[in-house]
Amino acid sequence: MDIETNIKAVRAELPEGVRLVAVSKFHPNEAIEVAYAAGQRIFGESKVQELVEKHTSLPADIEWHFIGHLQTNKVKYIAPFISMIHAVDSYKLLAEINKQAAKVGRIIPCLLEIHIAQEESKYGFTFDSCRAMLAEGSWQTLSHVSIQGVMGMATNTEDEHQITREFESLHRFFGELKETYFSGSSDFREISMGMSHDYPLAVKAGSTLVRVGSKIFGERNY
Ligand SMILES: *Cc1c(COP(=O)(O)O)cnc(C)c1O
Repeated sequence: MDIETNIKAVRAELPEGVRLVAVSKFHPNEAIEVAYAAGQRIFGESKVQELVEKHTSLPADIEWHFIGHLQTNKVKYIAPFISMIHAVDSYKLLAEINKQAAKVGRIIPCLLEIHIAQEESKYGFTFDSCRAMLAEGSWQTLSHVSIQGVMGMATNTEDEHQITREFESLHRFFGELKETYFSGSSDFREISMGMSHDYPLAVKAGSTLVRVGSKIFGERNY
């Protein structure tokens, strides 16, 4: 598995304006260093402890993105350095990120995770629960988080039409939120969707951030 070749191939496929989050979870520092030497700076992780260890030992100009489910009691460990939190799925989590960001004097970019797949999942807002959270309005008082867009995962299926429909539904929802709540905000601009097996479809449906792991680093050993 040649990480440098893989990462260059994925990047070459992405149109301008679409950024690559190289998902390095479960892969060692050496793998990240190869991608880093190939020019990659944004890396995605989904476990707090693993991320903290990697952040401590790898170059300081890496932008770390947290892409997994984040427990409120662990926000404090990543608040000092995290560049973006992709999967904010409750107001409670958003408020905790705000609190920990305030303590370290930061404003943390966040994305709202929306459940778009036809699969059972404990995580993610439904379209309606997200609308309700934003309509309620308390989020506007959270001055240490910056809501910059939405994130979603399509159903794990071979049916490309279904995947495309799901990605398009997220793109439409992004547009609705932009118009309703964020029309004055140039920061609300990200749609995080697309993984190794479906990122070309996500890009066609308007993704701005693709999260690609195994296509770059190979299979993970859990
Ligand atoms: C692991 C993970 C990815 C990357 O998955 P690959 O199939 O390896 O590209 C993307 N997004 C999230 C939320 C993940 O947990």
